[in-house]
Amino acid sequence: MERAERDRLLQDVEAFCRALRPIEEQCYLQRRFNDQLLPLARVHGLLGMPVPVVHGGRGADMVTYARALARIGQEGTGVRTFFSGHSSIGQGPILAWGNDEQKRRLLPPSTRGEIVCAFGLTEPEAGSNPRELAMTYRRRGDEFLLNGEKYLISNGGIAGVIVTFAYPEGRTGRISAFLVETGRPGFSSESLEPKVGNVTADTVRFALRDYALPAANLLGAEGEGLAIAMDALVGGRLSVAAGCLGVIEDCLAEVVRYAKARHQHGKPIARHQLVQEHITAIEMHRITTEALVFLAAEARDASLAAPGDSTLRARADRLAAQAKLHAARAACDAADRSVQVFGGRGFLEAFRPGRHFQDARVARLYEGTDEILTLKIAAAVLGKDYQAFR
Ligand SMILES: Cc1cc2nc3c(=O)[nH]c(=O)nc-3n(C[C@H](O)[C@H](O)[C@H](O)COP(=O)(O)OP(=O)(O)OC[C@H]3O[C@@H](n4cnc5c(N)ncnc54)[C@H](O)[C@@H]3O)c2cc1C
Repeated sequence: MERAERDRLLQDVEAFCRALRPIEEQCYLQRRFNDQLLPLARVHGLLGMPVPVVHGGRGADMVTYARALARIGQEGTGVRTFFSGHSSIGQGPILAWGNDEQKRRLLPPSTRGEIVCAFGLTEPEAGSNPRELAMTYRRRGDEFLLNGEKYLISNGGIAGVIVTFAYPEGRTGRISAFLVETGRPGFSSESLEPKVGNVTADTVRFALRDYALPAANLLGAEGEGLAIAMDALVGGRLSVAAGCLGVIEDCLAEVVRYAKARHQHGKPIARHQLVQEHITAIEMHRITTEALVFLAAEARDASLAAPGDSTLRARADRLAAQAKLHAARAACDAADRSVQVFGGRGFLEAFRPGRHFQDARVARLYEGTDEILTLKIAAAVLGKDYQAFR
């Protein structure tokens, strides 16, 4: 991406974040979905940041996109989750695996915000292990009939298209991926409220009952679903890690400002050594997370530039897992420490640390739990023979 375009994109992200902040705060305190996020993102042209210009997007490389998501992450994990669902794991697989017709049909309207994208892998009985999916499909003429349920899907209630994964009926083959258009008969969704955090974001369960989909909505080849999902999750993990960097940056800015302004025992609390220990810990989280996020983003850029190179792909996969595992834990600890520095006010949702404390927790769960990523990284270090699960 050219420098001038990158600067323009980051300026647009900044303007979006500033406009969104008071609205997001109000929605959060009222614990309601932020219905202004999408229109504001549309105004600022942020609905296809990593999508090539030819498909209506901004053409951001992964390093630039990570910087944008880090800034967005400062506004809250729920806000950043919208972009991860829409762009990283929604538009991402369409871009990487879609045919020309699918890209032409879906990408430009999604970058204009006419269609929101989402990713439907998790089910009530299949989370960490997607091989346990129960959703099925069967062919009927030139259609596919899908049946089953997806659970905990970000953007699922506002999406126009959901990248959805299913087995052939009777498990006669491998998982396939479909572009499920939500407006058709047989689709129903239900909001999953109340949540522990991310209260302004849309999270749903959805069901497909004899849901008929044209054969043209098969994504990739039949049986390629798991490879599509795993590839999408590399981009997804990177987006979560970048968002967590933003959480840490915001926590640091908040504690520095507050600790200098708040006086106890006759001096600003910033002069108390134990408060300084929290500030150092958050700063250490910031610098280590930043280093890992941009290492992982560079690796993903290198891998995307050489699609056939399995060594580069494995490196990008491993670094995204490492960045996400580290960033999610660091963001949770940074949020916890910033609550501590704010004292009792830290426990009020009216202040930003308490909201980050609730919201960042999800980053240790979605797009690969801490445990799954720990095992994945160990397998990458030890070698395939030592994989704890397959
Ligand atoms: C707010 C929110 C938004 C989400 N958005 C999406 C979305 O957009 N799309 C989507 O598809 N999913 C989404 N998810 C789902 C998320 O990805 C899953 O919750 C996650 O993958 C874990 O699956 P699970 O909840 O079924 O937990 P389980 O897989 O049941 O795991 C429960 C516990 O067991 C541990 N565990 C499982 N297997 C192993 C193992 N082999 N070794 C060690 N420990 C193990 C886990 O680490 C975890 O601690 C979202 C979740 C949340 C909370």
